[in-house]
Amino acid sequence: MSKHRFVAIGECMVEMAPAEGGLYAMGYAGDTFNCAWYARRLLGPDWTVAYATRAGRDSVSDGMVEFMAAEGIDTGHIARDPDRTLGLYLIQLTEGERSFAYWRGQSAARRLGEDSAWLDQVLDEARVAHVSGITLAILDPAGRDTLCAALGRAQARGTHVSFDTNLRPRLWEDAEAMRAGLLMGASVADTVLPSFDEEVAAWGDASPADTVARYRDAGAGTVVVKNGAGLVTAWTDVDGLVEVAPAPVARVIDTTAAGDSFAAGFLAARLTGAEPGAAITRAATLAGRVIGERGALARGLFD
Ligand code: ADP
Repeated sequence: MSKHRFVAIGECMVEMAPAEGGLYAMGYAGDTFNCAWYARRLLGPDWTVAYATRAGRDSVSDGMVEFMAAEGIDTGHIARDPDRTLGLYLIQLTEGERSFAYWRGQSAARRLGEDSAWLDQVLDEARVAHVSGITLAILDPAGRDTLCAALGRAQARGTHVSFDTNLRPRLWEDAEAMRAGLLMGASVADTVLPSFDEEVAAWGDASPADTVARYRDAGAGTVVVKNGAGLVTAWTDVDGLVEVAPAPVARVIDTTAAGDSFAAGFLAARLTGAEPGAAITRAATLAGRVIGERGALARGLFD
């Protein structure tokens, strides 16, 4: 039997996280990669989960590729750029509060929208393609157009395109470019996964129904509006509106990757036949467990 293919496209960075004694632990993370990591654990052996990005040809890039491969991710679509390397971020803890500093402006991944033929290869025979607002934000305007055109061609061939809006206003040129990018992403997406607080900040939405309406009108067949501990409001062109309350989480340790794991949980459930309400429950249950653990990749949940 031929394998189904799930491909996530975006940027994975070097992560420097505080460890004991003032030292830092080096890892690799990024929203779309986190989603692929969870998808790999949720989807069965009849699925290939691939991560597509651009990295450098240096040893730190080799380390990332080796790490991904060891995690079961197909790395066959990681392009190598001789002049660039990975982006990096540093987490600082000040009285328990995390803050982030980024060095990613010149990363190799910023060029992943330059090669249309490479994108077509990445998306060839993908059952699902997952991208985010960060994937779009790091590209220049021409790269965004090229990536969205390739996603549109894949969609026309039957690929299910998933778009997690993941708004990072500072990565975009300005608010207008961000809003235009979001609508362009949604126009080639089957599933859009926004977070209500971010949508309020970007568009002034009064309710999740406003968020649903915008992305439905942009062309999405499924819109799932997350709202932290609050109700998830979803709409699908088949089932209409569905609302699900996530189970309460007793102790929130670290909300990193709540949305990324939710996306993987929702897509994996839908791809294996779950109805929208059941898929949201599965996604929210996973996200609720992920935020009870430290770090983006909650390895302990899958031991
Ligand atoms: P994002 O990380 O994309 O901004 P949210 O913060 O809305 O998204 O969280 C995504 C999902 O994670 C929510 O829909 C919910 O299922 C779960 N979640 C997040 N925070 C909490 C919380 N405090 N209690 C219970 N579930 C939560």
